[in-house]
Amino acid sequence: MPRSFVGEARKRVGPKRARIGLILERLTREHPDAAIALRSGSELELLVAVMLSAQTTDVNVNRVTERLFRKYRRPEDYLAVPVEELELDIYQTGFFRQKAKALRGTMRMLLEEFDGQVPRGIEELVRLPGVARKTANVVAAELGEPQGIVVDTHVRRLSQRLGLTRQEDPVKIERDLQRLVSRAAWGLFPHLLIWHGRRVCLARTPRCEACVLSDLCPSSRV
Ligand code: SF4
Repeated sequence: MPRSFVGEARKRVGPKRARIGLILERLTREHPDAAIALRSGSELELLVAVMLSAQTTDVNVNRVTERLFRKYRRPEDYLAVPVEELELDIYQTGFFRQKAKALRGTMRMLLEEFDGQVPRGIEELVRLPGVARKTANVVAAELGEPQGIVVDTHVRRLSQRLGLTRQEDPVKIERDLQRLVSRAAWGLFPHLLIWHGRRVCLARTPRCEACVLSDLCPSSRV
């Protein structure tokens, strides 16, 4: 879209601070089922599922973890088998060598430093081998203590289209969103954008005509 149109569109919808409440309200109504798609039955399983989800789909991870979590129940279980066996068990999630190494390093640190429990703080989570800030954010939010806003490809695209950020870098986008969204909604907000991004605001062909945000969105085509 040419720059002048973008400027016009931004004026038409008004400042982001005035829109964010309505955006949250409408998306919550539109996607009441918005939640993490990875299946897990414990804090440890949640951590493992999120670690395995790098570079693959949630559906694929769920398929693998269904079997995996029956076999590996405690951190010790990941260390009790030869690494090749663990690699084979997570093979279908891709990057299996890297992921197996990260899982074993994480389990070792959980046992040595955290009494076998998953820590809740971002600073502690990012110390676990193979746990980057995005993974830590997802885990902390799911444990009920969001300390940041998860920025994935959908969150990035929708935040930009909705005029909530002009940044490209995920860390800077997160900073913009943290200033805008109330802390209580940090956990839910990315799920809402992800689900809206999957169902309506598709990457190539956004369905603006079916979008509940079209009057609040500077990128709307209707
Ligand atoms: S109006 Fe269009 S571009 Fe804006 S959020 Fe909705 S689908 Fe996406």
